[in-house]
Formats: sequence, structure tokens, C-alpha cells
Amino acid sequence: RAGRTPLIAGNWKMNLDHLQAVALVQKLHWSLKDAEHAADSVDVTVFPPFTDLRSVQTLVDADEIPFGVGAQDLSVHDSGAYTGEISGAFLAKLGCSSVIIGHSERREYHAEDDDVVAAKTRAALTHGLVPVICVGETAEDLEKHGASAVPIAQLEKALEPVASNAEIVVAYEPVWAIGSGQAATPEQAQDVCAKLRDVIREKMGDEAAASTRILYGGSVKSTNIATFMREPDIDGALVGGGSLKVDEFSSIIRFQK
Ligand code: PEP
Repeated sequence: RAGRTPLIAGNWKMNLDHLQAVALVQKLHWSLKDAEHAADSVDVTVFPPFTDLRSVQTLVDADEIPFGVGAQDLSVHDSGAYTGEISGAFLAKLGCSSVIIGHSERREYHAEDDDVVAAKTRAALTHGLVPVICVGETAEDLEKHGASAVPIAQLEKALEPVASNAEIVVAYEPVWAIGSGQAATPEQAQDVCAKLRDVIREKMGDEAAASTRILYGGSVKSTNIATFMREPDIDGALVGGGSLKVDEFSSIIRFQK
């Protein structure tokens, strides 16, 4: 496992073609270099669309850019007659280190339920990819069940196929906070993340609980990242909109607690 080095992950969603992707990664790298950011103090992973992965990975390799590259989804299958699907084997071959699973947009627009999320988690691990398992409550869930019940249940199910020594990342993303400009408070996020760490402890044991990174996601910006990073159970952020702007993402990566 990578331990709990802070991880700042940029989910580009369906934005940036491969030329724009290469330009953004280059500019981000120069921005961090200009700011004399110490690359080993924070892990950075970008999650471009599938069609950008090859170009971004080639650039990262060629220029020795210290970013991980991940995919936004994968198939539950390894290969075969599944038109339009992308398997974990292909992603691993491209040099992807991780893959987002169960993002709320996949759950909502592609009807991915907890069984699919568990199957995708298993598929990622089979191919040596770190699953970034996203969980979070909708506004309606929050009203009916409070903040933690739904994310806890989602994580319990996702961890069913996971061995105690597997490397995973968990992202707590309240759905109402994603893209809304209305982030959770650091205290709310910490409360849920502590409970998610308890789930990891129950399902995977003490060592896994102590060394697994839990991220907060939902309207993270350069102006609020430090407040989340001060919380003991928050080890980084999954950033959507803020990862598409070089200066903003560079500032988020250079957060000061
Ligand atoms: C996300 O989609 O994972 C996300 C957190 O988006 P945003 O940062 O734009 O709220």
C-alpha cells in the first residue's frame, strides 16, 4: 500500500480532448515546478477520459512527470463481446495505476448499483488497478437517513470482494456537494470519513484501516482544501471542476494545512 501520503485526484469527467489534455498536464507540471512544489509531499493522479489516456501516459513517461494516471470507469468483464466497454486489462497495459468506481454520475446516469460497484472493484483489483471507490448520500438520503447511513452501506457492499491486504482508496462524495459549489463542512466530512474508516477496519482489519486513504470530494477548491486536510480521517481530495483549471488545481495540490 502507498500509505496515507495525501492524494489529490483530478476527475476530468467528459472534458478535454487528447490535445487539451496534454496541454493541461504540461502546464500543471510547469506550474508546480515554478512554485517549487515538492513532488513527494503529495501524490497527484489525473483521471482523463479514456480517449486521452494514451496521450497523457506517454507525456507523463517521456517528461518524467510525477503524476499517476487513472481511468474514470472500467468494465466488469475482462474481454469479449461487450461493445463499447473497456477492460481493466487494457487500462493496466496503458500504465493506468487506478480507476474510479461508483462515481455518483455512474450510479445515477448508468444505473450502477452496489452489486455493479462490487464487481468493478473486484475487476480493478484483478488487474492490479487501485479502485477509487466513491460513496455518498444524495440530498434526499441526507434528509431521510442522515449523512452516514448510505455511504456506510455502499462501502460495506463494495468491500465484499476485497482482500484485507488490497490497496484501495475510498472517496466520500456527498452527491449534493458535487458540482454545486456547496461543499460539506470539514466537520461533517470528517464525521462520515471516520465512520468509513471503521467500515474498512471491520471488513479488512486494523492495518488496512490505518493505511487506507480516504478522500473527500464535492466542491473542493483552493480556498477550502486546507480545512479538509486538517481533519484526521481525510487524506486527500477527489476534485472535479477544480481540476480542469491549471492555476486552481495547482493551488489545491499545494494546499497548506
Ligand atoms: C466529482 O465529480 O467527483 C467532484 C467532486 O466534482 P466537483 O469537484 O466539481 O464538485
